[in-house]
Amino acid sequence: MDGLMKGKRGLIMGVANDHSIAWGIAQKLAEHGAELAFTYQGEAFGRRVKPLAEKIGASILVPCDVEDSASVAATFETLKEKWGGIDFLVHAIGFSDKNELKGLYADTTRDNFVRTMVISCFSFTEVAKHAAALMNDGGSMITLTYAGSVRVMPNYNVMGVAKAGLEASVRYLANDYGPRGIRINGISAGPVRTLAGAGIADARHMFTYQQRNSPLRRTVTLDEVGGSALYLLSDLSSGVTGEIHYVDSGYHIVSMPTLDELKQ
Ligand code: NAD
Repeated sequence: MDGLMKGKRGLIMGVANDHSIAWGIAQKLAEHGAELAFTYQGEAFGRRVKPLAEKIGASILVPCDVEDSASVAATFETLKEKWGGIDFLVHAIGFSDKNELKGLYADTTRDNFVRTMVISCFSFTEVAKHAAALMNDGGSMITLTYAGSVRVMPNYNVMGVAKAGLEASVRYLANDYGPRGIRINGISAGPVRTLAGAGIADARHMFTYQQRNSPLRRTVTLDEVGGSALYLLSDLSSGVTGEIHYVDSGYHIVSMPTLDELKQ
């Protein structure tokens, strides 16, 4: 399977540290020969991302805050200048005020609703447009989502609403760019211990619950999410677009806790 991404160049958005899902994906893609560019959100993250990017020989490292359209446009200008075009994009960005990732969804404020939507949902549509303009020969893009989009998860609240919008965006973008041979898919990952994940109240209980009740009786690793990303970004999945692919140890197919769990 070596060299699946040989000759392909792409942008990874959303590495905060070596626990980030985007970092698991980046490592897998580099292992298979991809040439990578990274963005980071502000200088504090930049200091952590730089050594990681260097470790896998990244060619480009640029700051990008998706709340600022000029910053997004500048990122793709840099890619155009240095590479001319790209073959793939990984969007692994999400944010909501942690004070609203607990309690009732009904208490979400207008300001945080809008901010969460812009960062966690609209940003994919905005970056996809820039990325598509640099994809002359087909291409593949993925974003990261969570099952709180389709079912109620405790405390996930407005992020669930944003992820529902993000998943609908995957389908609309897949239809928009399909005629140009550009594919758009989402990975719905099970819970992973990351900085963003830690912002959700009682996240560790959700983690343990899914460990006990998913068919595989465990949570997923960064390497496993990376493997599915490799499939979706490489030519192996050339017939797949508009899909939400679950990488969650099968948790989403289960409708009730295991009987062992109930009997405890
Ligand atoms: P993470 O904290 O490592 O990554 C989140 C990233 O979003 C960070 O790199 C952060 O800098 C970036 N970000 C936030 N606001 C931004 C902004 N304004 N501009 C640019 N970047 C910004 O956490 P993660 O869990 O790896 O999150 C990556 C993606 O995976 C998110 O979309 C998250 O919702 C999704 N996801 C996470 C889990 C989980 O359990 N951790 C499960 C399913 C999906």
